[in-house]
Amino acid sequence: MSDRPTSLMRPVPWPDSASRPLGTPIQPSVVYASPDPDTLDAQYGGTAPGYTYAREGHPNADVLAARIDALEEVPETAGRGLITGSGMAAVTAALMGVLRAGDHVLGGDQLYGRSLRLMNQDLARFGIATGLADPTDAAAFEAAIRPETRMILIEVVSNPTLRVADLAAIAAMARARGILLAVDNTFTTPRGIRAFEHGADIVIHSVTKILAGHSDATLGYVAARDPEVRRAIYDFAVTTGMTPSPFDCWLAERGLYSFELRYDRAEANAAMLADHLAGLQGVRRVLYPTRPDHPDHNRAVALLGARGGHMLSFEIEGGRAAANALTGAAPRIAFAPTLGDIGTTLSHPASSSHRGMGEDARLALGITEGFFRVSVGVEDIDTLKAEFAKAIEAATA
Ligand SMILES: *Cc1c(COP(=O)(O)O)cnc(C)c1O
Repeated sequence: MSDRPTSLMRPVPWPDSASRPLGTPIQPSVVYASPDPDTLDAQYGGTAPGYTYAREGHPNADVLAARIDALEEVPETAGRGLITGSGMAAVTAALMGVLRAGDHVLGGDQLYGRSLRLMNQDLARFGIATGLADPTDAAAFEAAIRPETRMILIEVVSNPTLRVADLAAIAAMARARGILLAVDNTFTTPRGIRAFEHGADIVIHSVTKILAGHSDATLGYVAARDPEVRRAIYDFAVTTGMTPSPFDCWLAERGLYSFELRYDRAEANAAMLADHLAGLQGVRRVLYPTRPDHPDHNRAVALLGARGGHMLSFEIEGGRAAANALTGAAPRIAFAPTLGDIGTTLSHPASSSHRGMGEDARLALGITEGFFRVSVGVEDIDTLKAEFAKAIEAATA
């Protein structure tokens, strides 16, 4: 008998190496073989380390989670963050893993579109009551809290109007009433703000965006301060199969190595581009949190310091025709409904994220046909300035 490995007999032993790989290995295995029932029992019981079945957890997800934990400075006692198959899976697990019928959850009124849909349409089917309030107005937000409010969900900087939530006041009201505060930190990133330091109980990310940074992996992240809350979120995510792919986790980890460099460069570009756009003819207004003309400028500076972030919005004169002309005249800037890519992307909320909203509600937010959101990338700033100047001139001449 030959002792050569065959394609049918598993496993072929992993070749020994006296050295270790510098790059993170990918572990795509769905299932793990344990030595005996006692060990498997102990693994399920949590007293022996390692993995059993990939839906329950796998090394690439845990390595990625540990890196985001470090960025977010997750409290030592909290336990590791959880990677999910998308940002929306993380939002859903945080809400549905914790809330029960009869609870009320209060959200910011300008949450990410699918988070709003989850709040407005889906949670109600499970008997979870929801409300929305303006998180930049502490008094209005407090007035919307009910005796059965169990959780608050906000984003620090809103999409696409870049309004800055009164995080200090909201965290204080949540703490005083024993309400869990969940912060979707996708826009601001841990480079802009570490939400646990500001009183968050749960921190959520769409890793798909600037953390992974290359528009090639769809993933989410959620961490909770209280290990019991973490456990509830984890169990819901595993039961409902929100599992991330090992390959996507590996790609995201690879992207994450350069996150701080990319973020700093994109943010510096965004601040310069905002000032440049504000000086162009045909531009009605520019929204960027650290600019003195931003409606929440003082709060932005108090909360974020000089970190205005990589997102800005602007409004040009003219309607849909001008908007079409602008994207047509800026072929080097991708017109794409995402954010956080390595390159600059442009989105038009009236035809995409906010198209389902009634026109009156949209206009009340200032989202006209001439309103664009820019996710600024790491390109050469002079090239970016020239591309925007040319396109805006063509669109508004
Ligand atoms: C994109 C996004 C999400 C959803 O993330 P996916 O990875 O696309 O599911 C949630 N919140 C915010 C703020 C986002 O920008």
